[in-house]
Amino acid sequence: MSDRDGLIWKDGEMVPWREANTHVLTHTLHYGMGVFEGVRAYDAEGGTAIFRLEAHTDRLFNSAKIMNMPMPFDKETLNAAQRAAVRENGLKSAYIRPMVYYGSEGMGLRADNLKTHVIIAAWEWGAYMGEENLTKGIKVATSSYTRHHPNITMTKAKANGAYMNSMLALQEAIAHGCHEALLLDSHGFVAEGSGENFFMIKDGVIYTPDLSAALDGITRKTVFQLAKELGYQVIEKRITRDEVYIADEAFFTGTAAEVTPIRELDNRPIGSGTRGPITEKIQALYFDVVHGRSAAHQAWLSRVAH
Ligand code: PMP
Repeated sequence: MSDRDGLIWKDGEMVPWREANTHVLTHTLHYGMGVFEGVRAYDAEGGTAIFRLEAHTDRLFNSAKIMNMPMPFDKETLNAAQRAAVRENGLKSAYIRPMVYYGSEGMGLRADNLKTHVIIAAWEWGAYMGEENLTKGIKVATSSYTRHHPNITMTKAKANGAYMNSMLALQEAIAHGCHEALLLDSHGFVAEGSGENFFMIKDGVIYTPDLSAALDGITRKTVFQLAKELGYQVIEKRITRDEVYIADEAFFTGTAAEVTPIRELDNRPIGSGTRGPITEKIQALYFDVVHGRSAAHQAWLSRVAH
């Protein structure tokens, strides 16, 4: 990732990709206290556009507030910097990674003598789970790792350290021959994937876990609205793993994963064992919206050219 041409926005200026370095005593590297975002820009009709940029930046600021990290830039600066990172790297579509971290000004856990730094990188990144799995669906395993508790690391911040749990769960799922993990909360109810929110469909109704142990996903919010526009009811409720086994359809949502159908959980096929019809409709509308093909959803697109 580090040895390539390009520019990375770092603390207010564009620096050459290979020179966007930090010291080995960087505080966040040691303890994981940092916050970040994952944002996508699409090669949309009418020009490259970042999808729901303001919502991502709002969540970044909320994450920093939860973690008590002072933000050295305002939202407009970071929005402009994200557009610039895509534009100045000549990208038509991109995954954008803003990250807020403590520097190497000190090492104590008190973190009272530290500066907050911000980087924004952008690069090309295709379908997170592979193009084919967007049609076929993925195999998922219930994780032996419990998802975060509101009173341990909390759950509303997209925080660097939180992803140790995600990586352990994902690596376990892959070792078991699956593409992704489904993590349960500390009460044993479905929470989310390692980097996605979860939805299931039963008898034409869409269900998703409440947010007590899941990230407040922007794709989740988008899918809520799109599903309602398509005439479906979306209900937030506690979901058990065996309810998922006998669901008609299931899918994950995320900026990286977009709308990824789930074809199997714990070796049980979900519904027909492939992408379900309601999932397909939602996925198709989602791709229309992010690619600027829907007149009604243009407000979600931030054009990169200006
Ligand atoms: N849950 C987790 C743990 C995630 O990392 C992500 C990806 N940011 C999501 C859910 C989905 O969030 P979003 O739709 O905002 O990308």
